[in-house]
Amino acid sequence: MAATELDQVVNLCKRRGFVYPSAEIYGGFRSSYDYGPLGSLMLRNVREAWIRTMVQQRDDVVLIDAAILAPPQVFEASGHLANFSDPLVDCTKCKQRFREDHLIDPTTCPNCGAVGSFTEARAFNLMFKTYAGPVEGQGAEVYMRPETAQGMFVNFLNVQQTSRKKPPFGIAQVGKSFRNEITPGNFIFRTREFEQMELEFFVPPAESAQWYDYWCTARLQWYIDLGIPAEMLMLRPHDADELSHYSSGTSDIEFMYPWGWGELEGVAQRTDYDLKQHAAHSGQKLDYFDQANNERYVPYVIEPAAGVNRAMAAFLLAAYDEDEIDGEKRSILRLHPRLAPYKVAVLPLSKKDTLTPLAREIYAKLADRYMVDYDDTQSIGKRYRRQDEVGTPLCVTVDFESLEDGAVTIRDRDTTQQVRVPIADLLTEVGARLGF
Ligand code: ATP
Repeated sequence: MAATELDQVVNLCKRRGFVYPSAEIYGGFRSSYDYGPLGSLMLRNVREAWIRTMVQQRDDVVLIDAAILAPPQVFEASGHLANFSDPLVDCTKCKQRFREDHLIDPTTCPNCGAVGSFTEARAFNLMFKTYAGPVEGQGAEVYMRPETAQGMFVNFLNVQQTSRKKPPFGIAQVGKSFRNEITPGNFIFRTREFEQMELEFFVPPAESAQWYDYWCTARLQWYIDLGIPAEMLMLRPHDADELSHYSSGTSDIEFMYPWGWGELEGVAQRTDYDLKQHAAHSGQKLDYFDQANNERYVPYVIEPAAGVNRAMAAFLLAAYDEDEIDGEKRSILRLHPRLAPYKVAVLPLSKKDTLTPLAREIYAKLADRYMVDYDDTQSIGKRYRRQDEVGTPLCVTVDFESLEDGAVTIRDRDTTQQVRVPIADLLTEVGARLGF
């Protein structure tokens, strides 16, 4: 498979209703995106796939949904007010701004080529500040969370006590985060508003290294299980000078984007930094009493932190393919069935009244269990191509023979092979082919 160009996926996303530029009728809102009918389904599938693996299939992780707005005390304690900044440099020639740590050559402007034209680096805090209530000013300031993680730390006691979990256990969350990124870009890879899927896994301090290894391996495997080829992924341990203010060790799961290797997810050892900071600032004891060993300790934390949008970009880039069927070129998304917006498309061969009732009946039966598309326009070949292009794993064709033999044709997206299946067995057959 030839390497996918970013433009191929961006165009497909726009053309087929996955992702649109935000506020497009006003000329667009730089580096913001809206997710259309198919994109919003796919985002939901990414979230659900994560929750399924990280929460549903384990009895040691629970899910929360914390507030996006938080008072300054939370981010004073977490260190974000003092430390969550990027080094910003301006080119004095062309006036463009850059993250100093993203420059390939720190002496040369990548925009205008000027040498030695950068200002001294300034620390630029990435948090969005706003005001709660009718009066702006000191005392009314609140912040939009730059990560979901603090919601898990400030709720540590609430969750631990109400769920009666003992370390090692985790608190998971999926939700929006906001960062005033200096250089957003590369489509949905880096935006100022994005969604995260984070797990804070609380462990006895002595088990921290072992759980860090466990989560690095488990998270890498999650992407492979959902269809990204292993050779497009790698685990890259951070150098000491890259570590966040809270981390004693981090590895990035990197993906081979069209522009090169880049972060897809970070797995960090956050030690007991956050719980200790919040305990010191709030005056509340945030620790755990281990009755079996009669010992009190502050748990260490391992954090796998992923992005919903960035994961969606990677899944799309890895799934995009072009091939030829009967001498005709087709573009296809070879998405894992769990991620595909539609699992099945029901396609009556003709729009005639004789076929519609049966096709509608089959649609209703399938739609009770799956997200299903119904399409009765244009030729059957064109309809297959349309479904291939948005990654629908299976098409069910209802034809005139179906009225006689009570059977339909199932067509497979990847092989294009077709088999005849009795309508009575359709749900079982579809379930077996999708794997759920
Ligand atoms: P980067 O170095 O790419 O800015 P980061 O190391 O700051 O990322 P983390 O703080 O580790 O990112 O956030 C965890 C995950 O959240 C990232 O791996 C990514 O998937 C997602 N993420 C972070 N920032 C953004 C953003 N601006 N847009 C989209 N996703 C993001």
